[in-house]
Amino acid sequence: MNSDPEAGSLTLPEKAKFVFAQLNALFGRPEWTGGGDPVDELIGTILSANTNDVNSSRAFDQLKTAFGEDWEAVRTAPLEAIKAAIRPAGMYNQKAPHIVAALTRLRELEGCYNLDHLATMEVGEALAYLTAFPGVGHKTASIVLLFCFNRGAFPVDTHIQRISQRLGIGGRTDAAEKIKRIWESLMPPETYYPLHLNLIRHGREICQARAPKCEICPLQPVCDYYNRHGAWA
Ligand code: SF4
Repeated sequence: MNSDPEAGSLTLPEKAKFVFAQLNALFGRPEWTGGGDPVDELIGTILSANTNDVNSSRAFDQLKTAFGEDWEAVRTAPLEAIKAAIRPAGMYNQKAPHIVAALTRLRELEGCYNLDHLATMEVGEALAYLTAFPGVGHKTASIVLLFCFNRGAFPVDTHIQRISQRLGIGGRTDAAEKIKRIWESLMPPETYYPLHLNLIRHGREICQARAPKCEICPLQPVCDYYNRHGAWA
């Protein structure tokens, strides 16, 4: 646990840097070593909504296996066959048409199933391009850009939203998209990949939704929640 007496009087940019440094010290700094295929990431992220990694991975693998790793075969398949393949991910009645609509739009725009051009597109343009796909919000779009290309887009999921609200990086009721913009204004793009992964790990292991383990948390000195209420009761 960090007990820096100065930490409680930091400015917001200093607080963000403190959080980044403390999480790197606690968990190590994950480095981006190359990304997967962006179309795979896009479809995988649509499948991951409101479920855990195990279920969404199983659904993704079943989808690829059922249609021979061929996105054209998925796009033109009967909706019921897609729903059956992705059933482990849950919400398959919504996710199957979203996948078909996303593949259809990609095919119409690019004539193929390829998103490699995002590597060089300006980040704001790339986010606008991706969020125009059906079922793709700022989190999915940022995940594709960050994980596949290490581009400067910071994805905010429920863990990061909750931790940021508790820390006071963002207001207590701020939406995920606003918190994304705040982090992006406070930290440089090269920090987004390790910061994103370490905040999620922090949310899973320490700053959990129902019973955060404040007593072992190195972010205590800068946490608005902790400094108002003390450890979680
Ligand atoms: S002190 Fe508690 S509420 Fe604050 S970030 Fe740490 S675990 Fe979360």
